[in-house]
Amino acid sequence: MSIYSETLSRQKAFFQTGETLSYKFRLGMLKALKKALKDREEEILKALSMDLGKSAFEGYATELGIVYKEIGYLEKHLRKLMKPTRAKTPLTQFKARSFIIHEPMGNTLIMSPWNYPLQLTMVPLAGAIAGGNTAVIKPSRYSQEVSKVMKSIIDETFSDDYIALFEGGHETNTALLDQRWDFIFFTGSPNVGKIVHQAAGKNLTPCILELGGKSPVIIDGTVNMELTARRLAWGKYLNAGQTCVAPDYALVKKGYAEPLIKALKKEIEKMFTSVPFSSSDYPKIINQKHFERIKGLIESSELAFGGKYDEKTLRISPTILYPVKETDAVMQEEIFGPVLPIIEYDDLDKAISFIKRREKPLAFYIFSRNRKDIDKALSSISFGGGCVNDTVVHLTAPELPFGGIGNSGMGCYHGKRSFEAFTHDKAIMDKALWLDLRVRYAPFKGKLKLVKMLMR
Ligand code: NAD
Repeated sequence: MSIYSETLSRQKAFFQTGETLSYKFRLGMLKALKKALKDREEEILKALSMDLGKSAFEGYATELGIVYKEIGYLEKHLRKLMKPTRAKTPLTQFKARSFIIHEPMGNTLIMSPWNYPLQLTMVPLAGAIAGGNTAVIKPSRYSQEVSKVMKSIIDETFSDDYIALFEGGHETNTALLDQRWDFIFFTGSPNVGKIVHQAAGKNLTPCILELGGKSPVIIDGTVNMELTARRLAWGKYLNAGQTCVAPDYALVKKGYAEPLIKALKKEIEKMFTSVPFSSSDYPKIINQKHFERIKGLIESSELAFGGKYDEKTLRISPTILYPVKETDAVMQEEIFGPVLPIIEYDDLDKAISFIKRREKPLAFYIFSRNRKDIDKALSSISFGGGCVNDTVVHLTAPELPFGGIGNSGMGCYHGKRSFEAFTHDKAIMDKALWLDLRVRYAPFKGKLKLVKMLMR
């Protein structure tokens, strides 16, 4: 028996005791998680800085703060979320009471990526706890300092019969996917998402896949350029572009590319100075492999701004590529780095069809004052979620579902959807004993008219 199957069988036994089911237990565990994170805040921020060069501000605003908000939401709404929901009963089933029990999925597996290593592990975990499940967590090998802190937090806060974390690489991933889970929550690339989906399929295990891809932004020039550039630069260069919902490329109305680039340069310098490498607010690329990959993408297109590297600290300066052709290397894969390719369009319909010819994106953004054009883009492009006149911030609202569609993922979470993601809706009809209408029983002679009337 491997350590993974042994842990899972202990977690199965623990789940069977029913201890994870009560409101008191779930609330207590959410509180314990929050307290443990608060106690180790400094250490977490330091680890985020070591792995990704994140400033304390960015580490708090985009990782810890989002986890606290999510836990806070679940604590506040847990009692109501757990309560069975009433449903209407059709007249044909008179007299009965219908309701939905939100039962835990059971023994769950959470696999997370390296780019927001804390947030993308702890937010799903909060959902798993609120839903009354056990969890095994597998963070990415690349963000090892954060993984180390998370491991020690999980080990100190929870019994591993309930929640366990395994560090490790390929063998660990494969061994974990070989186990039979009740539910898998995976965040990562579409390619690995397919492997996870296939592994889950072997046992018909339900899963949520939070994936990535190329998220476009349309800029039609009707919004003030300075504001457009500031909000675009913020979303693009946050975490040095290593954000799943970062605007990947910009489609800009003919005549506005030059003014946009001019405004972007100004905003980038305001945020990170003219020497971004020396700014403590500017993150690094996760590792040499990704550093080289992004360098290759920059070198195969025309450079409009930036394109500077610091091999020692693995930093790549905020970069703009223009003019970019559809066939350039940078347009063939998710960039996941601080590089913004700009392509011009002359007609909104063409920009929309450019996006629709590609995989369904995780996010879509549009900067425009033209309501008709905004509505047209929002209704004709299929994508996970997005913003009008801003970037990335849609994921900060717990009331908004967060997830992709098609190649960018399946299922969603955040806020009440996290609870829903980690629970199964069990439908019940509770029938009264004092009445038993004979309509449904044979013989049916003379009853068709009545059934037609009742089931219109
Ligand atoms: P990845 O797919 O390489 O890795 C994700 C997780 O899967 C890691 O824990 C990794 O250890 C594991 N893994 C890697 N190879 C595996 C394999 N062959 N079998 C089983 N497990 C394996 O992704 P990444 O490089 O860590 O993250 C970047 C990708 O994740 C980007 O595509 C990005 O858009 C996406 N992402 C999506 C979201 C979202 O919320 N939708 C958030 C962050 C990142």
